[in-house]
Amino acid sequence: MPKTGRSKLAKHSHKGDRTTVTPPPTTKTPITVAYGDGIGPEIMDATLRIITEAGAQLDLERIEIGESVYNRGLSNGIEPASWDSLRRTKVFLKAPITTPQGGGFKSLNVTVRKTLGMYANVRPCASLHPYVATKHPNMDIVIVRENEEDVYGGIEHRQTNQVAQCLKLISRPGSKRIIRYAFEYARVNKRKKVTCFTKDNIMKITDGLFHRTFEEIALEYPEIAHEHWIVDIGAAKLADTPEAFDVIVMPNLYGDVLSDVAAQITGSVGLAGSANIGDHCSMFEAIHGSAPRRAGQNLANPSGLLHGALLMLVHIGQGDAAERAHNAWLKTIEDGVHTYDIFKAGVSREKVGTREFADAVIARLGQRPQSLKPAEYAANAHLNLAIRPAGKPPMKVRVGVDIFIDRRDGNPDQIAALMQQFGVRGAKLTVISNRGTKVWPNGNPDTYWSDHWSCRFEGDGELFTSAHVVRLLEAAERAGFDVIKTEGLYTFNGERGYSLAQGE
Ligand code: NAD
Repeated sequence: MPKTGRSKLAKHSHKGDRTTVTPPPTTKTPITVAYGDGIGPEIMDATLRIITEAGAQLDLERIEIGESVYNRGLSNGIEPASWDSLRRTKVFLKAPITTPQGGGFKSLNVTVRKTLGMYANVRPCASLHPYVATKHPNMDIVIVRENEEDVYGGIEHRQTNQVAQCLKLISRPGSKRIIRYAFEYARVNKRKKVTCFTKDNIMKITDGLFHRTFEEIALEYPEIAHEHWIVDIGAAKLADTPEAFDVIVMPNLYGDVLSDVAAQITGSVGLAGSANIGDHCSMFEAIHGSAPRRAGQNLANPSGLLHGALLMLVHIGQGDAAERAHNAWLKTIEDGVHTYDIFKAGVSREKVGTREFADAVIARLGQRPQSLKPAEYAANAHLNLAIRPAGKPPMKVRVGVDIFIDRRDGNPDQIAALMQQFGVRGAKLTVISNRGTKVWPNGNPDTYWSDHWSCRFEGDGELFTSAHVVRLLEAAERAGFDVIKTEGLYTFNGERGYSLAQGE
């Protein structure tokens, strides 16, 4: 959250490069801490030392997560009792963990985020030119990623021998909340523009919903510029000219991929931290993993986790300590005191280990960088946005059904001929598609036919009810079709709520 105006919270006076700070808060904020696996314990020690010396007032509750818990047979890597700590403190500082290879293990991160409703992932990515090599010296962006929806529901089915599906779910309340979060973040942190990336030229209904919601909410923030990019060209622009962006808001999958790209092109993924924000509990971490090959050697760079901890301090209203630690860290980087991952002969001055790096930051507490932009944290950056009640729901009308079948060596004309004999009054076969491409009527002979067919029945004027669906399924059963699933076709206030097949 740097790049802000003077914080109302930060009551500093600067004398030369020394800073006098108002006394830290007297009450300690309880937080839950997990030291994780691999390099986790080393970087957590370093991080906690730095922020404590910077004046953070924390009461630590330690929990165990990761490899040891997975190995005790808990498939999501966290002990049931640890949830109590998280619900009590509502703040989680988490070191990286090692996810065991092989089946059956669930991602701890996804479990924690989804269970505790952490809907926003926030990742600031700023370059440190010329002290850390980067092709993008003026980059200073924040990626706000939706954290719960999209394909991360992990709802997947193998439906036929040849075809598997993953459900992409985008909700209106979920989109509203993350987009509002991005604009509120921009407002509080004095950012100038919010950009939205989607692929709504292809996914007109799911990504289209996200994009439409973005355009609606943007109207409430006239002082902040807004723009939308199709994600492919937006990603190319981000990788090439990141200085063109400020805050970028994205659905989950694009955000997952592009926030790593953004962190990498600042110079190193090892430097970035992230916040996962929810109404009830928030989690702060480095974006990198547990780097097992570097573990226990006092080599790892603690900067990523430190940045996660800085976001945490702002979140709990200890922005003064965050600003002090961040500026000392910037000065350390500027002084060329670098861990191996960012050490570069000619630029760096001293190659240090994890502990020595933390000592160097602590020794600079109270100093500010001379040429890098000093960090200044906004007051009250804690943005929890409860979902607002929706307006009147639209009128939903069922207008048909897609019946998906598994048929090897199928032929669309043959399938259509059989289905046209179903004889269900008020339900008419209108189109057959194969993996989303229309193959009947008037299919193209060059289209490849997999064993996965979608057969659309629509009403012919009268109300299309669930009784029509049942009768169609009975007819399909009698005709020997292997039905995989059905999808209802609905309109909402008369607007079509389903896609047409390619070529339809
Ligand atoms: P990784 O991020 O651990 O390592 C990638 C590379 O970056 C390695 O060369 C590593 O040595 C280096 N590196 C990472 N962090 C560094 C640091 N702080 N200082 C110096 N060098 C650093 O990714 P990986 O090797 O793909 O994954 C290792 C394990 O971490 C896996 O079990 C993976 O599942 C897990 N992981 C956990 C998280 C998390 O807990 N949030 C995130 C990503 C990966």
